[in-house]
Amino acid sequence: MQEWTDRKVVVLGLARQGKALSQYLAKKGARVVVSDLKRTGELAAVREELAEWPIEYVLGEHPMNLLENTSVVFVSGGVPLNLPLIQEARNLGIQLSNDSQLFLELCPAPVIGITGSAGKSTTTALVGRMAELEAEGSGTNAWVGGNIGRPLLWDVEHIHPHDWVVLELSSFQLELMEASPHIAALLNLSPNHLDRHKTMETYIAAKSRIFKNQSQEDIAILSRDDPVAWDLRHVIQGRSFTFGLESVGLVEGTYIKAGWIYYRKNDEERVLCPIDAIPLRGEHNLQNVLAASAIALGAGFPKDVIEAGIRSFKGLAHRLEFVRQVHGISWYNDSIATSPDRSIAAMRSFDEPLLLLAGGRDKDLAWEEFSKVVSERVDHLILFGEAANKIAKAMAHVKGERPFTIDICRGLEDAVQKAVAVAKAGDIVLLAPGGTSFDEFVDFEARGERFKEWVEAL
Ligand code: ADP
Repeated sequence: MQEWTDRKVVVLGLARQGKALSQYLAKKGARVVVSDLKRTGELAAVREELAEWPIEYVLGEHPMNLLENTSVVFVSGGVPLNLPLIQEARNLGIQLSNDSQLFLELCPAPVIGITGSAGKSTTTALVGRMAELEAEGSGTNAWVGGNIGRPLLWDVEHIHPHDWVVLELSSFQLELMEASPHIAALLNLSPNHLDRHKTMETYIAAKSRIFKNQSQEDIAILSRDDPVAWDLRHVIQGRSFTFGLESVGLVEGTYIKAGWIYYRKNDEERVLCPIDAIPLRGEHNLQNVLAASAIALGAGFPKDVIEAGIRSFKGLAHRLEFVRQVHGISWYNDSIATSPDRSIAAMRSFDEPLLLLAGGRDKDLAWEEFSKVVSERVDHLILFGEAANKIAKAMAHVKGERPFTIDICRGLEDAVQKAVAVAKAGDIVLLAPGGTSFDEFVDFEARGERFKEWVEAL
């Protein structure tokens, strides 16, 4: 374990990760200097929470003299690595790290790390549920955190060697990490965050780092259905478990056969549960369940724990979340669908008559494919927010036989009221906006929460 007393460390970025890091390092006696481009006023609340620690703040800029006598620079996920200060730290041979790297160095328990372009949080939470069930049976604890919410550095001193840790990792965190989790899962890889990673190659390189520092004693989990992820099987050093819809020869992992989830491990094929027993909707969630089960197999959780986890996991808030049924109409909240692609995935998750609430703020994306899927699946489209007119224009070009209606409302609350007026018993009302929330709310969570309040009040 590293000795921190009197060593100078620089923490770049004072959000969740920076806060956990600064507190941990200050507690260990390091001289902590925090630097953030935000200014004093905006960070007042965080500084207040850290007030008991002797932390130095350099705000509004990252001057080069921060690096004087510095032994480690900790970089928060939101801080780009091409920052001049970071380049200079590299030139000077100063160690770079982040909260997840430090956590992996300190954590006495086996860590399950999960990354991918989509489905990270759902899979992390489902594996977390299985880990909780496993821990309950053995009198230990399960810890779930990282990118999904809570930096686990807050808890590291309470974690015991026999506990289980489930850690969601983003590509931004992985990009500079020199440590890998004992069990590492890469769910899928689609173009994402290319604004920061620039090319698909550098994005793949960042994600594949989750396996890079594994040894032959470690375990890797990979998707067989995602060609880019599957190609990375060649970099795996330890045992691997894979997941995908179809079984492939004697490969260890999970698959579907005749409507049931199966797995193969140690030359044995066993059945887990019927697909119908999965409370989550959508093809993408089937992939997440297959992934979580493969991860649990890798961790050595028994079959009944995996099965109980699948059956009891109702999903995360704002992700195809069932809100309630009123007068035979079922309301769903998928506020996290902030791009047309995600809205399409949500629409495809339902066979029932569908009323879609779409809109919000457009990210300059194409709505043609979205329009096509709406024309195939949706009976009533209710548009709201800034993007409403743009989407309506895209809809005007759709050719199709199926009749559907379009209404335009000012904001989400009006859209909910319109939905009440139009929907009939047996319909699904789905909020899967395809646009971001920033035209009306602080974030997608606030949008989803308000939506639920309005639906609860019906
Ligand atoms: P992440 O943490 O990677 O952002 P989440 O589990 O929070 O992923 O899911 C967010 C959204 O991403 C979901 O509502 C769904 O639209 C989409 N999604 C989830 N899992 C998958 C998957 N396996 N493949 C493709 N899209 C997915």
